[in-house]
Amino acid sequence: MALDLASSPAGWDYASALTRTQARVVAAESASGRIGAQVRVLVATKSWDADAAVAAVRAGASLVGESRLQELDVKAPALRAAGARIHVIGQVQRNKAHLAVRHADCVQTVDSLALAERLSRLSGDAGRELDVMIQVNVSGEDTKAGVSPDEALDFAVAVQSLPALQVTGFMTIGLHSEDESAVRAGYRRLREIRDRALIVSERAQADLRGAWELSMGMSGDLEWAIVEGATMVRVGTGVMGSRRPH
Ligand SMILES: *Cc1c(COP(=O)(O)O)cnc(C)c1O
Repeated sequence: MALDLASSPAGWDYASALTRTQARVVAAESASGRIGAQVRVLVATKSWDADAAVAAVRAGASLVGESRLQELDVKAPALRAAGARIHVIGQVQRNKAHLAVRHADCVQTVDSLALAERLSRLSGDAGRELDVMIQVNVSGEDTKAGVSPDEALDFAVAVQSLPALQVTGFMTIGLHSEDESAVRAGYRRLREIRDRALIVSERAQADLRGAWELSMGMSGDLEWAIVEGATMVRVGTGVMGSRRPH
């Protein structure tokens, strides 16, 4: 598969776009009684070339999300050199798991034990620990990746008990809908899972006390995710701009 990476839109101002996004985040924190919550913005740089991604990092985006491992492999050295932390936010195919272990600080999309075991083994071989999040399919759409909400907690316990992985939280791709209450219900579901994980950990089958992150919300709905407790929103077009056909 050839990579079709786009260069920066002419004249695009990453710093202003990032400032606008951060202003939305702060406004949403305050509107939902979460002043000072410091919800982090992960900038999703998929389909943008390394120069565009690095321009966003230089403008202040210190946390970057990549969706395709092949793209990550091409862009990671430049992103690293610019000082970014890198999260994988797309599906990890079996034969690309080593690229995640080589380049990423965190894989947010762990949704099968086979993948978790593979990431743990490869990380162990590389002499490192890898942060992971549990991807949950809160909307129930069959097109979406993620474990079901009902199995998320047991699954998190199983993943945390693997030697080289540290579960740092839960991630979801929300329902793509204008229906605020339906979208928010999904995000609330993820928060409830996280809250239960923090309690279960006190019973110590596996220590999930570090699993507090909630990665949810994108450019179109980050306010709804923040009201429901997001600790990290993933913003693509809001910071990177829109790709035009070329
Ligand atoms: C692309 C992407 C985003 C960002 O989407 P925008 O609507 O452009 O903000 C967030 N999460 C994931 C998993 C993505 O692939």
